[in-house]
Amino acid sequence: MKIFSACLATETNTFSPIPTGINDFTQVRPTDIANGNASFDEIPPLGLWEKMARSRGDEFVFSLFAFAQPSGLTTRTTYERLRDELLDSLRAEMPVDIVLLNLHGAMVADGYEDCEGDIIEQVRAIVGQDVVIAVELDLHCHLSEKMVSTADLMITYKEYPHVDINARAEELFDLAIAIQQKKIQPTMVLYDCRMMGMYPTNTAAMRRFIHVMTAAEQQDAVLSVSFGHGFPFGDVPDAGGKMLVVTDNNPALAQKIAQSLGQQIFALREQINFPCLPLDEALSQANTLSIDSQKPIVVADQSDNPGGGAPGDATYTLAWLLKHQIQNVGMAIFYDPQVIKLALAVGEGSRLTIRFGGKLGPTSGDPLDLEVTVIAIQRDYQHRFPQIDLETSKESDPVYWPIGDVVALHCQGIDILVGSKRAQCFSPCIFSDLGINPKEKSLLIVKSAQHFYGAFAPIASDVIYMAAPGAVPPMMQQIPYQRMRTDNKYPWVDNPFV
Ligand SMILES: [Zn+2]
Repeated sequence: MKIFSACLATETNTFSPIPTGINDFTQVRPTDIANGNASFDEIPPLGLWEKMARSRGDEFVFSLFAFAQPSGLTTRTTYERLRDELLDSLRAEMPVDIVLLNLHGAMVADGYEDCEGDIIEQVRAIVGQDVVIAVELDLHCHLSEKMVSTADLMITYKEYPHVDINARAEELFDLAIAIQQKKIQPTMVLYDCRMMGMYPTNTAAMRRFIHVMTAAEQQDAVLSVSFGHGFPFGDVPDAGGKMLVVTDNNPALAQKIAQSLGQQIFALREQINFPCLPLDEALSQANTLSIDSQKPIVVADQSDNPGGGAPGDATYTLAWLLKHQIQNVGMAIFYDPQVIKLALAVGEGSRLTIRFGGKLGPTSGDPLDLEVTVIAIQRDYQHRFPQIDLETSKESDPVYWPIGDVVALHCQGIDILVGSKRAQCFSPCIFSDLGINPKEKSLLIVKSAQHFYGAFAPIASDVIYMAAPGAVPPMMQQIPYQRMRTDNKYPWVDNPFV
């Protein structure tokens, strides 16, 4: 059997003024692997699929891995160039038996509101009806009828933080093989839950709901159940929470389960959003809690999460900490390439006077003039995203993200990690890798909405979600939608089903 695979992914914040161009994509091609410049380990889940295919004796070809950190619209030429490279290499590899795609689901390009629908449709036009097209998606996706009608199988992550990237990839692979062998015949149904929000899956209500989804998957003829949360900062007509159910040749059952689960998640709508505090309240509470705590208090600066398309250089939190003279704090990861250049030039142990952060836009706050010491430097750092089961704490193979050069600065009792690329903070190992013991800090402030949770929660005494000023504040009703309808969705309408 011949399996073709590719990844073309980014999560587009359509409100961000920073466009996504060709150089924003980390790109790996077969030649990079052949000449040792990259390895399959660096391109999940393609690396996993390659292993699984090899262990079965299948032929595995991959054409392209292209992933960009979330920011604004992907330029038209960038999208078309990468898409056409994927399609051209598919044409060259034909005939194939299975196409496995790793797409995000919330990529938006200039002129393309549904990039994934476009990619799958064009892949289908090349391979015809008999080849299996199976797609793994982030749960922050805009699921569309075009995607459902052109793919054979789609599965989204179930967990936010995304600690099940490989688990879902494995399911997708096994089901794609079974489809190709005609052991099963998938039918997919989408159900619009008429809601938009951000739903961390470590809450009691979401844990219960995930159990309900996995229990539904145990029923005869049910192949897969996904809840696409939607991505609130992607303003497209297909945005919003949707239930996706795949059955074995039983569309009526798929419809019934999708509707039932869709209604169940809708009923939970008031319980499942982030419990966020405004900046002053969040930091005051964190500071008070830290006085009696043996372990750090972790505060998530959700509004400046580069993973949601924010610049990563907002200074509001740092300014508050300096003003209140809070000591023994670790912060990660600021984006300030100019400061990185200065730090690399002078080296570890040197002192610098810098104008820090607050550069990329009006949501970043003011730059801060600081005296700092460069305490550590890591070149070409690979940031580890641990894949930790939220219930059993069992850890599977981690995912690594190349985030460029990282520098640790010390300033008035605060250790600040700065990167040369925009990147969110996934794990406290970034502190340890730069010689800072995160467990000894009173406060750890992370620029991340939720992906930090799996690795930080075990070392924290408390986790506080903060809605500071910034580019991606987790407050749906403040987002100025134009393309997504709000008159048929919660929280704009209390119950859009009546
Ligand atoms: Zn996501």
